[in-house]
Amino acid sequence: MAALTTRVDVAILGMRVDAPVSRQAGAGPSDDGHVMFNGQQAAIPVNPDSPYLAKNGRLFLDGADLGMDVVPVNRPKFYDLTTADGVSYEKIAKLHGAKVLATTVVQTCIRYGESERCRFCAIEESLNAGATTAVKTPEQLAEVAEAAVRLDGVTQMVMTTGTSRGPDRGARYVAKCVRAIRAAVPEFPIQVQIEPPADLSVIKDLYDAGARSIGIHVESMDDRVRARWMPGKASVPLDEYRSAWREAVRVFGRNQVSTYLLVGMGEDPDEMVAGAKELIEMGVYPFVVPFRPLKGTLATDVDKVGSPDRVVVQRITYEVAKALTEANMFGSDQAAGCAACGACSMLQTAGA
Ligand code: SF4
Repeated sequence: MAALTTRVDVAILGMRVDAPVSRQAGAGPSDDGHVMFNGQQAAIPVNPDSPYLAKNGRLFLDGADLGMDVVPVNRPKFYDLTTADGVSYEKIAKLHGAKVLATTVVQTCIRYGESERCRFCAIEESLNAGATTAVKTPEQLAEVAEAAVRLDGVTQMVMTTGTSRGPDRGARYVAKCVRAIRAAVPEFPIQVQIEPPADLSVIKDLYDAGARSIGIHVESMDDRVRARWMPGKASVPLDEYRSAWREAVRVFGRNQVSTYLLVGMGEDPDEMVAGAKELIEMGVYPFVVPFRPLKGTLATDVDKVGSPDRVVVQRITYEVAKALTEANMFGSDQAAGCAACGACSMLQTAGA
């Protein structure tokens, strides 16, 4: 429990750390430094005002050595390469944690207009900052994946995308990219992350292309929270998510499907745990992650939402981890993806 308490605390207060692997903006949680925390991958907010300090491989709180190992992840070698047409590999895919290659294949989203945008998201900010390119081609992704495996020993890949207008919501392009990567690096474990497609057959297409895990991210099972925080995505009813999760479990298998649940959007903790249990029963891993204030998002810049209460984060993490272990579902059993990586959640510290 002490390790979980500290891990939650650090996730919320951040730490002072010189982390060569970090990222700003982009899809999902960011503004973090990547470290190995007691041997587990961890994406921690870098905060110069935090009472926690990582130094000489150890974690200190107000100067006291906590007896925990914190080792920053080294800058990967593939970041120094460029494609034949002059694009830095670092703009095509990033290292997450120590062993995960991550990319956003299409860095724009139909829901990024101010009235529709998810209030925690900054997907187009890294594009505006010139840190990435709008669309990664299958050839570029295959080239970067091959180099990251060969030079830096990455073991899995996460591919997400902004949502596009078609009934596949961008999934067919993701499938094309997966196919190209697997042709270059056969058997490389890849997770794809998509919105529920209107045409469910695309889920099988993703598997046939070579993806082995899938994330269909709802962030909250509470319709009031969804309407307030994700007005665009909330137009997709929860029942469409349920249909997509069921089809994904049928195709990819139990515990190869996951969804984010974000703590700190004003949800009722008991309802969130109940929602997580419904997901677990379906064979879907609820990846519980604390909301992280992030510049460039509406939640931070307009709503001024702060970090969630650490007691609530710890309680939900603990209860969901307990339900997961009782169901024999572990993130490390997923072929690839966020649950397999675990860096943005405290569930692995809690045993799941
Ligand atoms: S949990 Fe997902 S978003 Fe977080 S570092 Fe790992 S792969 Fe990246």
